[in-house]
Amino acid sequence: MTQHLAKSVLVAGAGISGVSCAIALRENDVPFRIVNKGYRIGGRMASRPVRDSGTSFDGRLFDTGASYFTVSDPDFASVVSELESAGVVQPWTDTFHFAHSEGIAGVKMGPMRYRAEGGIRSVVEYLARDLVIEEGEVTELPTSERLALCMPTPQAARVFPQASGLSTAVWEPVISVSLLFDQVYWAAFDGIFVNQDAQVTWIANDGARRGDHAPALVVHMSPILSAGHLVNPDAVIPIAISAVKRIMNFDADPVWTHAHRWTFAKPLEGTTSGETNFVLGEISRAGDEFSDRPRVEAGWLSGRDLGRALAALA
Ligand SMILES: Cc1cc2nc3c(=O)[nH]c(=O)nc-3n(C[C@H](O)[C@H](O)[C@H](O)COP(=O)(O)OP(=O)(O)OC[C@H]3O[C@@H](n4cnc5c(N)ncnc54)[C@H](O)[C@@H]3O)c2cc1C
Repeated sequence: MTQHLAKSVLVAGAGISGVSCAIALRENDVPFRIVNKGYRIGGRMASRPVRDSGTSFDGRLFDTGASYFTVSDPDFASVVSELESAGVVQPWTDTFHFAHSEGIAGVKMGPMRYRAEGGIRSVVEYLARDLVIEEGEVTELPTSERLALCMPTPQAARVFPQASGLSTAVWEPVISVSLLFDQVYWAAFDGIFVNQDAQVTWIANDGARRGDHAPALVVHMSPILSAGHLVNPDAVIPIAISAVKRIMNFDADPVWTHAHRWTFAKPLEGTTSGETNFVLGEISRAGDEFSDRPRVEAGWLSGRDLGRALAALA
């Protein structure tokens, strides 16, 4: 383990892992700065407004990245309970449908999934409400601060090639297609896992998720199809529309569409760096990938635990 003289920490990335790292540093009185690439924080917990749809839904948010989150860790449960009391998140559903290429095949129960009425980005925005987050891309090793990179390894490796060997996770892309219709053409549902389909893996009822019951769907395209369209994500929109019509058995076209490209959406499988869910070193690392279950909760835990570990060095 590298020992450092400087005590201040530069946290790079204000997704849930960077924000939870910064909060843990603050709780332990460690001075820090947090810098995020792009003016919106939240990273893959992203919500995007409808624009220029010619409908009254302009400004309405679609969740284009993480669909929901689950809770198993007691400490994360306490945070979620606070978020729930503040009206930021709501229990959504424990029941999704599943489908094959030809259509819906049944329902499947699972853990409670949480949604955020104000868009899933609002979770990170709420947690970060007392943090001062600078906009900018961290591209150099700071001279007098410890560095904590809280982002997917491929993004970290682009600017810090020397950090690239710290995680072996392979990342897969997802193109997420938002579709707004003029009315609801489907029976009530929350989400559909689409199995063994070459085009689509998941369809979310964004109207049920947001709670406004708008005629809004978000479709996640398969990793292989997505990988072939990263240069021109809009090209998958007609594929998404025909897949939704086929699987959900209705025949109407959307009035507004948007495709979002997540080049590094999910680690194919999580990785662990020995005993910990983070990497502590000259370039420290946190993120959902340092877990065998990469997801929102894992990102929060990883950032929190890295923040505590950095505080213990101080
Ligand atoms: C399509 C999709 C569906 C998903 N579905 C689910 C789901 O249903 N349930 C679930 O639990 N999880 C889901 N996830 C995963 C979930 O979004 C992640 O686990 C979680 O958001 C990880 O947060 P993070 O902070 O580790 O990384 P990120 O959210 O990726 O945050 C990284 C941040 O770092 C910033 N950054 C990058 N480079 C730099 C730099 N050089 N300097 C400064 N800042 C930088 C980025 O702008 C970003 O804000 C999904 C993800 C995607 C993309």
